[in-house]
Amino acid sequence: MNILFFGPNGSGKGTQGAILKDKYKTPHIESGAIFRENISKGTELGAKAKAYIDKGDLVPDEITIPMILDRMKQPDCKNGWLLDGFPRNKNQAIKLDESLKKAGIKLDIVVEIVLDRQIAKNRIMGRRLCEKDNNHPNNIYIDAIKPNGDKCRVCGSNLKTRADDQDESAINKRHDIYYDAQNGTLASSYYFKDIAKKTGSLKYITLDGTPGVKEVQAELISKL
Ligand code: AMP
Repeated sequence: MNILFFGPNGSGKGTQGAILKDKYKTPHIESGAIFRENISKGTELGAKAKAYIDKGDLVPDEITIPMILDRMKQPDCKNGWLLDGFPRNKNQAIKLDESLKKAGIKLDIVVEIVLDRQIAKNRIMGRRLCEKDNNHPNNIYIDAIKPNGDKCRVCGSNLKTRADDQDESAINKRHDIYYDAQNGTLASSYYFKDIAKKTGSLKYITLDGTPGVKEVQAELISKL
């Protein structure tokens, strides 16, 4: 199963993505996570990307597009993939579409989480990362996953914040990019929505991201 996953930063995209990954046993390719891994390993790619990421800007397409298209050629993607965080602008969508066509690969499902911009912003600023396990969700503004004091609610480890989560102007910039329906991320999801309408062979699923993680999860599962 080949899946694209869209949702503003703060919409719970990572959590819902993990559900898709488990259901279809596909690798979860997260562009942001690949950049962060490169930064922590001190690679050349990480050094190039860091300045953009810290400011909340997109890493230039010349770096991002080949990075993702190369990742998709790895053997673990042979039977499917879940792309998350890419494409992020219309150019990336077009390049991805072209590359899939060229390789004879069919896109099966697109999932879009729809969420109000202000709610998304609160959720980002409340996000806390467990130092032991990135998959332990903690958020000071979401009752269901409130940390235990200042410790991880799952394992009691120390919590940290991502620098770009606490920088309001960087969040605004990221959301400017996401909610831009002309050239930004919404433009790229609408690019595929159009294809879904025209061809009928691509399933485009829209989810309301306003309720809690469990409700969104139930909607996702019922629509798959
Ligand atoms: P994320 O973890 O998805 O919020 O991504 C963190 C940062 O990585 C973003 O704010 C961008 O600077 C960069 N990034 C992630 N995905 C892309 C992409 N598809 N194109 C350009 N930059 C990206």
